[in-house]
Amino acid sequence: MTLKLHNTLTRQTDVFAPIDEKKVNLYTCGPTVYDFLHVGNWSAYIYWDMLVRTLIADGYNVERVMNITDVGHLVNDEEDTGEDKMQKGARREGKTAWEIAEYYAEDFLMGIEKLGLIMPGHITKATDFIPQQLDLVRILKEKGYTYQIDDGIYFDISKFPTYADFAGLDLEAQKAGARVEFNVEKRNPSDFALWKFTPAGEVRDMEWETPTDLLDTGDEKKMGFPGWHLECSAMAMSILGPTIDIHTGGIDHIPVHHTNEIAQSEAASGKIFSHYWLHNNHLKVNGTKISKSLGNGYTLQDLVEKGFSPLDYRMFVLQGQYSNEGNFTFENLTAAKNRLNHWRNIAALRFQTYDTLTPDADNTITLVAASGAIMEALNNDLNTPEALRVVDEAFSRLDGKPISAIHQHGLKQLLETIDSVLGLQLQASTPDIDDDTKQLIIERERARDTKDWAKSDKLRDTLKEKGITVLDTQDGTIWEYAN
Ligand code: AMP
Ligand code: ZN
Repeated sequence: MTLKLHNTLTRQTDVFAPIDEKKVNLYTCGPTVYDFLHVGNWSAYIYWDMLVRTLIADGYNVERVMNITDVGHLVNDEEDTGEDKMQKGARREGKTAWEIAEYYAEDFLMGIEKLGLIMPGHITKATDFIPQQLDLVRILKEKGYTYQIDDGIYFDISKFPTYADFAGLDLEAQKAGARVEFNVEKRNPSDFALWKFTPAGEVRDMEWETPTDLLDTGDEKKMGFPGWHLECSAMAMSILGPTIDIHTGGIDHIPVHHTNEIAQSEAASGKIFSHYWLHNNHLKVNGTKISKSLGNGYTLQDLVEKGFSPLDYRMFVLQGQYSNEGNFTFENLTAAKNRLNHWRNIAALRFQTYDTLTPDADNTITLVAASGAIMEALNNDLNTPEALRVVDEAFSRLDGKPISAIHQHGLKQLLETIDSVLGLQLQASTPDIDDDTKQLIIERERARDTKDWAKSDKLRDTLKEKGITVLDTQDGTIWEYAN
């Protein structure tokens, strides 16, 4: 199946062709671990999980790096100014930046599990890749792309003529409009720090000695730390090589973070850094940007406390396509939860139907064809809403069918596809009922046969207490999970 992806680099939807026919090298910009991730951050990682699942289903072997930014992401990342977010987190909680990083990185990994995201093969912390980052600065210095000023070593964007191309930046306008507080020592407003020096008189929890060969000759010893952009380039290239297939991130990364990654990586290697660049649009909450001051950056734990599971949230995210702006409301999340519950009850039918030798041709074809249609939707630029619509349609064809006419094998096959490519864990979350419960259902059917309504109602209540509801159809009783 042909996979098409919207490529920010070419500004069009391209047919995907990796460097190696069978293997895909993928880099995902990971979170800055100074706080819990909010629903917007998580939406990004759910969408990139869909990319990975689609690539795997298409038969590729995916080698994936996702970083954890645990140093160097400054509060104002456009101008390389302000406090390091990690130090800010440390101050807020009265801990060290190392403790903050460890705690929130661990919480991130737990969130990956809860949301059913495939764990990347390489999860790399920026602080574990300091030598690789310094090596990259060294290469750039040797090639003449860097200069040193009071607060760090910078990349001179005027030496990289295609700097503005990726994001379509207007550098002249940027110069004209440079803010008064623009660091006057910088040669160009968009020049960015590769390596920052610890300000004089300040002690940072995370700092490393700057190798003297990176400093201007005769300079004294300086402690420092990497710039956020440098981290991603160094981790991607040291593990995956100078040219990768796909690089993903949020649309906020296009004008600065990814533009800078491209400049420094390609200046260093002389090769194209990534063939495909994918960007997820942002999620809003009640139509408003997520912001700390509004307190609308719900965490997974906030959702759980309000009675929603991480998989309900996953379903909510899949209802939108990654390239469209999303809108989170609790009504939308409730709709997603109901949809998932409905799907789980359909999944439970696999225990209640039998493989028939002469299946109803129509519903068998529908069930089997749905798997193909899901893959078609995903291969069409990860169109998850369409994939969900296909499932709804296939499931709706089962409505009103006698249970004996539902083709068990076809249903199981479709559930397999849904679980492997949409990651909704339908089968794992829908265990069969135990023998005692089955026995109660049989007793209730007998009571109904003898028109003993009092007994049948009593048994219905007993089943309800066990979390099971029963539906009486012409074809016999069907059980569902009570919500
Ligand atoms: P950060 O921890 O700030 O580096 O962000 C982690 C990831 O979340 C980045 O890939 C951002 O692009 C992404 N992100 C931040 N805010 C949102 C949002 N509201 N919706 C979707 N993605 C977001
Ligand atoms: Zn990055």
